[in-house]
Amino acid sequence: MKTRGTAANAGRRGKRLLIAGYRLALLALAFFSLHTATQRREARKDSALGEEALAAAKAFAPTAVKLGAPDGDDRVSPLLDARGATVGWVAQTSPESRAVTGYAGPSNLLLVFDAARRVAGATILQSADTAGHVAKVAESTRFLGQWTGKPLASLGSPGEAEIVSGASLTSEAMARGVAARFGATGMDQWFPGEVRIEELREWFPSATALVGTEAHDAGGTRLGSVLRSSRMGVAVRGFQGASDVLVALDADGKKLIGVALKGSRDNEPYVPDVRDGLRFDLPYAGLTVDEVMGSESGAVVMVSGASRTAESVEETVKEMLRRHFAPPPVAPPWLDLRSGIALAWIAAGLGIGLGPWRGKKQVRTIFAAVSVAVGGLWLGLMTGQDQWIKGAMRGTLCGTALPLLALSAAALLVPAISGKNVYCAQLCPHGAAQQLAGQLRTRRLALPPRLHRALAGLPWLTLGLLWLLAFLGLAFPFAHAEPFEVWSAGLVALAPVLIFASGMIAAVFLPQAYCHYGCPTGAVLKFLASSPGRWTRRDAIAGAVVALTGCVTYFA
Ligand code: SF4
Repeated sequence: MKTRGTAANAGRRGKRLLIAGYRLALLALAFFSLHTATQRREARKDSALGEEALAAAKAFAPTAVKLGAPDGDDRVSPLLDARGATVGWVAQTSPESRAVTGYAGPSNLLLVFDAARRVAGATILQSADTAGHVAKVAESTRFLGQWTGKPLASLGSPGEAEIVSGASLTSEAMARGVAARFGATGMDQWFPGEVRIEELREWFPSATALVGTEAHDAGGTRLGSVLRSSRMGVAVRGFQGASDVLVALDADGKKLIGVALKGSRDNEPYVPDVRDGLRFDLPYAGLTVDEVMGSESGAVVMVSGASRTAESVEETVKEMLRRHFAPPPVAPPWLDLRSGIALAWIAAGLGIGLGPWRGKKQVRTIFAAVSVAVGGLWLGLMTGQDQWIKGAMRGTLCGTALPLLALSAAALLVPAISGKNVYCAQLCPHGAAQQLAGQLRTRRLALPPRLHRALAGLPWLTLGLLWLLAFLGLAFPFAHAEPFEVWSAGLVALAPVLIFASGMIAAVFLPQAYCHYGCPTGAVLKFLASSPGRWTRRDAIAGAVVALTGCVTYFA
């Protein structure tokens, strides 16, 4: 008899686990589908060649009437004539060219190929670079014609590009973008190569190696430091572009030994003058870091006729020193304290929600006040659709603070496994505030059953709408569909403030009014916690909706 009872218990436990797993799997599948749909949309956006591209391509392939889908490893799109025959191919350089910025931004070029995949012509589709420079490049038939006749397979070997005088940075960036599109690597790196030993020995004659930024001699003695602007992300522009500046510091790091121009994208007539000025006049030699940092613009590097280039070098040196000597960011101690308190609050909520105190009204009321004060007013810590949808779109939890991760895990996993919606019952500050608001009045209202049933569908409707918008990729501020932003950001946007205020007023008369008739997050959590171990109609509906969404995402 006892054995039969034990087996029945084990069976119940197994069923309960299976259903919990099923519900969590549905949630995971919904997140994964949204992530996949977002990724595909982004990829389509990147490779989309629209009407503008077709119109531009017709200049080189006049019989083309439409574009086909991208084809092969090179992802070039066929140009089709009225009968559907391929009369050429096209490719845009974006997104690969996006990392290659000229003077002010990246460019997107269209390359048109003949049927044998040889370049028939090139044109500029868009450019975020300086308009004047872009116009010069667009007028240059020599620049845009430099690829004509070349086979597609050769475009990934950059070689020496044809550059437009007066728009050298813009045109070179475009040429690099073309090479990057067809497989060349490092095209966004304007100053490739390492610091050579001969360059080091200008300042440290016995140097044999540069380890990181430290110059060493053969015996391993540290001689000083050499900073490099292009490796520190410092790019102050002169007339036309930034320079790659080297700064040598003595072993104590207090004085400069010298400064050199390793490379420059600035105007050719000025660069040699500034380079020679730095090399032969040694304007920085012996200056302390403080002296350099306190110097006026144009007071250190004085090169007549190249003042802007010289000033850009001075600004570069100052920024390099500022970054080099900036103290490493230290997390303020209260940050850890804050996280610790947040985790303690979550643990206490779980303890109360899952333990014997759950049924004690006084304990629940005191903890509701704690959740409002600590979780809401102080930490502003809540989980909701904005966080779920954006997390699913990104496909990663990286960057999410530990307390929010812990809170989200508690909100989603605990109801599925235990059948107890501890987040809504104990932790959610908005739910807790409604609970306290409800205690302001002893007489509580209840909606007529039919109205209650009709309104109880609203959270699901809101949930469906929000996720539909997310799947469609419409830029909707998801945080504005729930009141939680008010706790973390204050009275910033009107919609959450209205939802917050109306929900709180309603909660005085109608117990947990927003939770029952408005909250999409609560709807999901209630579903996870409902009828543990029992298959319900909602499981079937949720399964069908998620499966349908998954199929549409997969086959679309
Ligand atoms: S239903 Fe929504 S507002 Fe209410 S407690 Fe749950 S998450 Fe918070």
